[in-house]
Amino acid sequence: MVEVCHGKNNQRSFLPLNGNIRGCWENIVNSISNLRFNGKGLNNLILGKVANGEDIRFWLNTWTGDSPFVERWTHLFGLELSKLCRVAERRLVNQGNGGFTWNWSRQPESDVELKEWQECHEILNRISLNNNKDLWKWNNDNQEGFSVKAVKLALIEDIDDDHPPNFEWCKWVPLKCNIMVWRGNLDRLATRVNLRRRIVNITSVMCPLCEELEETIKHLFTACSLVDRVWSAFSAWCNFPQIYAFAFKDIMEIHKFTQLSKKAKTLIQGLMFITCWCIWKGRNEMVF
Ligand SMILES: [Zn+2]
Repeated sequence: MVEVCHGKNNQRSFLPLNGNIRGCWENIVNSISNLRFNGKGLNNLILGKVANGEDIRFWLNTWTGDSPFVERWTHLFGLELSKLCRVAERRLVNQGNGGFTWNWSRQPESDVELKEWQECHEILNRISLNNNKDLWKWNNDNQEGFSVKAVKLALIEDIDDDHPPNFEWCKWVPLKCNIMVWRGNLDRLATRVNLRRRIVNITSVMCPLCEELEETIKHLFTACSLVDRVWSAFSAWCNFPQIYAFAFKDIMEIHKFTQLSKKAKTLIQGLMFITCWCIWKGRNEMVF
């Protein structure tokens, strides 16, 4: 269904996305595109193990080497007429060396195209197909097959290693909002858990808003059930997709991952900062 709505013949990414269709698929693709594990994107880490070549996309998936062919041979990709083709459509079984079929808009002829074509042939000559089903694996994981669990573990490790992102000031909101968000980014707001860390004698470390979990910055601004309703109202008011923040840095960076104009992105950034300020202010009024 996604492919019917979003797929297009000049697709360059392994996940199809039609920029004219707004919605949750767009948010998912944007989030996945921005994921990095040690500097590598998801498409460089989900590796196809080719057998019959019927599942793996020749250009768009990573199946030999550490990047998809679309990134390695961009000129050849430009000539490809069937950009979504599978490996089996390009490599003929039982044809021995040189058994490739191509579907070019015209034959490669410039120096750079011929050089890329030669490199491509050299790599394909080392590949042999068989009758088994293609497999997927995660990041050279020794385990056979792809598992969501392995990706989840990598994500958790990545979040744990995460350093706060560089803070981008928002010029049109009051300084006090900027400073409050800047301190949140460094985990330096006086939440109850941070006070306990500094050995301040407090009666409770539970979140004053929901009383369900300990009050960390992450909980207060992203996970608290009450604040969740604030973000829902924010999305509805701004006609902005539902906000799913898992860490404070997501709040600071969410505007970057939208398809909006530069001006609208700055507007969303500022409104997010002001909302954080209101949450923090509301929380302090409740506590003091
Ligand atoms: Zn809470």
